[in-house]
Amino acid sequence: MTSDRNILDIDFLDKTVRAIAEDISTSPDRGEVSQFLPELAAIDPRQFGLAVVTADGYEAAAGDIDEAFTIQSISKVFALSLALETFGDEVWTRVDREPSGDPFNSITDLERHGGYPRNPFINPGALVIVDMLLDKADGPGPTKFVESFLAEQIGADDFAVDEAIFESEIGLSHTNRALAHLAKSFGNLNHPVDDVIAAYVRQCAIALSCRQLARAGRYLMLERAGAGAATDPSRRRARQARRVASLMLTCGQYDGSGDFAFRVGLPAKSGIAGGLLAIVPNTATIAVWAPGLDANGNSLLGTLALERLAEAMDWSVFGAVERR
Ligand code: GLU
Repeated sequence: MTSDRNILDIDFLDKTVRAIAEDISTSPDRGEVSQFLPELAAIDPRQFGLAVVTADGYEAAAGDIDEAFTIQSISKVFALSLALETFGDEVWTRVDREPSGDPFNSITDLERHGGYPRNPFINPGALVIVDMLLDKADGPGPTKFVESFLAEQIGADDFAVDEAIFESEIGLSHTNRALAHLAKSFGNLNHPVDDVIAAYVRQCAIALSCRQLARAGRYLMLERAGAGAATDPSRRRARQARRVASLMLTCGQYDGSGDFAFRVGLPAKSGIAGGLLAIVPNTATIAVWAPGLDANGNSLLGTLALERLAEAMDWSVFGAVERR
């Protein structure tokens, strides 16, 4: 580790990413793969990928970085960004910004709060966001908002929806359907439940590799917004991205968000297929994938990898230990 890292030490970053991937590939405790869908339960837990994209566009990566996995709940970050871009602060009339302290698909939590979901990263919150986005759909059929947004961010559309996972989850979305009906009974869902579920399940089934996911999250890194007026769209987008990142920090890892902030110190969002997207503001985005989950449903080795990377690079939203 160098003592002065005003400038990102790319050699050190490369070595660190490789060393973490190598070390983690031999880890005996890999967590449990999600049993939610048979297709997720069948995923080989020995896979591991880690990709970092820096603000300058440099990519450091190691492991299974080109293997695609479904982004699942990480899609909630992109859907929220789109909703904020389209509807601005009106979003907060439909969903709150508080950690829930209950499971991500809790029905009692939604009932207790009168159909006003605690945040956009638990399922009822994400369903309400999808409902808002459906206002902009230009006809029946599958909505592709999140796919188009991702293609724009990645600069390519060489990714797809995992149709087997999509079909499987459509058939097994009993709790999500119940949440959508409950939100509707409180007047917080405008579109038919089936349409909302289909669009939501579709965004969860988008399959990206670590490399693609790290690229997709770059807009959240807050690359310099440019010197234009405060109303300049790139500045507005950057301000919204900072707010999205604040929710990733407080609500991004289900009931493990507090421990994650303590250990890693970076805004991140996890998904039940074992993916994680983390942001180092102004510096880098990180995507990691290890399918085995911990008791809170977050990638066990993915979290460990982020903890080690953040420590080695001295990355934290709570400041740097090494003097700059
Ligand atoms: N499609 C899953 C669900 O809605 C995503 C869960 C997750 O990644 O947290 O239940």
